[in-house]
Amino acid sequence: MQTLAFWILLLAFMGAFAAQVATRVRLIAGASNTFSVDQLGFRIRRFLFDVVLQRQTIRERPVPGLAHAFVFWGFIAFGGYTLVEFLHGLGLVDLTHTGWFGAYRLLLTPFAVAVLGGIVFLFIRRAFVRPVGLGKTVSVESLVIAAFIATLMITFLLTYRLDEATLAGRVNWWVHAVIILAFMALIPASKHFHLVLSPVTVFLKSPELGNLPNLDFEKEQVGLETVKDLGSKSVLDAFTCVECGRCQVNCPAWGAGKELNPKEIILQTQHALLAGEPGKTLGEIYSEKVLWQCTTCGACENQCPVGIEHLPILIGARRGLVSNGDAPESLGAVYNHLERRGNIWGLGSDQRQKFVESAQLETFDPRTHDVLVWLGCAGAFEADFQKSLRSMFEILRKKNVRFGVLSKEKCTGDVAKRTGNEYMFQELANANIEDLKAAGPKKIVTSCPHCVKTIGNDYRKFGYEVEIVHSSVFVEELTRVPGRSSLMTDASEGRRDNVTFHDPCYLGRYAGTVDEPRALLTRFGADISEPERNRENPYCCGAGGGLLFADKEEEPGTRISDVRFKQLQATGANTVVTACPFCAIMLKGAQASAGPGGDATQFVDLMTYVNGKLQPHA
Ligand code: SF4
Ligand code: SF4
Repeated sequence: MQTLAFWILLLAFMGAFAAQVATRVRLIAGASNTFSVDQLGFRIRRFLFDVVLQRQTIRERPVPGLAHAFVFWGFIAFGGYTLVEFLHGLGLVDLTHTGWFGAYRLLLTPFAVAVLGGIVFLFIRRAFVRPVGLGKTVSVESLVIAAFIATLMITFLLTYRLDEATLAGRVNWWVHAVIILAFMALIPASKHFHLVLSPVTVFLKSPELGNLPNLDFEKEQVGLETVKDLGSKSVLDAFTCVECGRCQVNCPAWGAGKELNPKEIILQTQHALLAGEPGKTLGEIYSEKVLWQCTTCGACENQCPVGIEHLPILIGARRGLVSNGDAPESLGAVYNHLERRGNIWGLGSDQRQKFVESAQLETFDPRTHDVLVWLGCAGAFEADFQKSLRSMFEILRKKNVRFGVLSKEKCTGDVAKRTGNEYMFQELANANIEDLKAAGPKKIVTSCPHCVKTIGNDYRKFGYEVEIVHSSVFVEELTRVPGRSSLMTDASEGRRDNVTFHDPCYLGRYAGTVDEPRALLTRFGADISEPERNRENPYCCGAGGGLLFADKEEEPGTRISDVRFKQLQATGANTVVTACPFCAIMLKGAQASAGPGGDATQFVDLMTYVNGKLQPHA
C-alpha cells in the first residue's frame, strides 16, 4: 500500500517538475545558440573552484558563503542516500541494510549537522538581518525552502533514534520523502532552480569578462530588440539567478542612487521570457533610461556566484536601440567625431602629429623598435594625459627601450563597442587592424586600460592577435632589479609618500592588473592607503560605457565619480594615483565639485609618479 502511494506521489511530483522544466528548456533551446566551450581547460578549472569548492560564493561574503557552501555540499552528498531510499520506497531494490550504506550514512552525519547549522544561519539572516541586496520584502518561498532543508536534516538524524519498522520511524521516513518530492515540484519555478542550472551556467560563462561577440551584419544581426533575440546563454542566465543581490550591491550605478539594478535586469528578463511578450522591446522591459546608466564596469558579472553575464544583455539591448536610431543625444556628438575624425574628441590628426613631433616619437619599425606604444584618443589629444605619456617615454628612454608609434591611429572603438554602435566599432577596428598588421608589432604598450581590453580582446575576434600590456605592467618589469628593494632618487630616499591608488575597472577588474601598479608605487617611495573597493573589485569612476560624455546635470542620484572621490578622500592620503586617462578626468571633475576640503587632494598619474623618482639612466 505504502509502495503504491509512493509510486503515485513520485510520478505526480515528477510530472510537475518535468512540465516546468520543459517550459524553460524550450525557451533556452529556442534561442539562437550562444553557448561556447572554448578554453576548456580554463572552464574545467573554474568549475572545480567555483562550483565544487564554492570559491566565488565564499570569497566575497565568507560567513554566509560558507553556510551556503555547506548546504550545497550536503545537497551533493545526500544524492546517493536519496536514490537508495527512493529505490527502497518504490519496492525496486533494498540496499538500506548493506554494510556500505551503513558506512555512507555514517559519513553523511557531519554533513547533516553542517547543513543544519548553515541553513539556520541563512534563515535568520534572511528573516531578521535582511541585507539590502536580498530585497525589501522577506521572501516567504526562501523561508519555506529553508524550513524544508532543516526538516530533511532533522529527519535524517532521527533515523539513528527511530526504527524504520515502528510507526514513528515510518512517519519520519514519509516526512523526509514527501519534502524531497515537494522540493522537486517547487524548484523549477523558484530561484532554487539554480541548484540544477548553476553548474551548467558557470561552466558556460565566457572566460572573458564583458564578452561581446561581433555582430554579423551579413546575417542582418542588429542586436537585441525583444526577448526573442536573446541568445541561449542569456536565457539560461535568466533562469539561473538566485536573487542574492551581489550584482546589485556592487553596481556603482545602483550605489550612486540610479535606477539601474543589474539584478532587476536579470529578473525582468526572466519574467518577460515566461510571460511570452514577443512584441515588447527590451527598451520597454528595462526602460531605455536604465540601459544608458551602465558604465560597463563589469562588477555585476564578476561578482555573480552562478555565472550570469549581464553585459551581453545590457549592451545587446543598447545595440538594438542604436540600430533603431535611439541612442541618447550625448552620444550623437561622439559618434559624429568618430565618424569624421576617427577620435572621440573630434580633433584633427594634425594635433596628434604635433604631439608626436614635440615628444620626438619615431614611426614604429619592427626592425629597429622593441615595442609599439599605442597612444589612444587621450594620449594623442588630451593635454593632461600627454604629460603622463611624456613621463612614460622618459622612463622607456632611461631604460633604453626602443619604441615607436603608428604614423596614424584611430580610436580603438571602445566607446562605440560599449555603447552598442557595433557598425562604427567594426569600421574603426578594421582600419586599425589593417594598420597594425602593416606595422607588425609583436608587443604593444599603452597607458589606456580601455585600449588594452579593446585591442587585446575585441580585436582578437577579428583574428588579430598581439600581446598588449598596460604601461604599469611593462614599466614594473623594466624597473625590477633583483636584490634591490628600491630605486628611489637620492633626494627622496628615506621619505615616503602617503598615496592612495584608484584601480581602473578596465585594469583591475578586466585585466586583473592589480599588483604591478602597487609594486611600482612601493618601489618608488610610496606607502599605499587602500580605499574601500579596490584591486579586482574597484568602484568605478563613472566614465566607462560612454558615460564620460553623458550630461552630468541630467544624472539622477549622485554622480558615480563623486561617490568614488569621497571613498578615496576617506583614506586620508592626499595624493590619488591614477592609471587611466578617463578615471583622471572623472575624478578631477568630482574634486572640482567636492566643495571645501576637496582641493587638498592632488592627482598624479602612475607614470609621472614613477618617472619623478627614477634615477636618470637607472
Ligand atoms: S557593468 Fe557595472 S554599471 Fe553596468 S550594471 Fe554591471 S555593475 Fe552596474
Ligand atoms: S544575477 Fe547573479 S549576482 Fe545578481 S542576483 Fe542573480 S545570482 Fe545574484
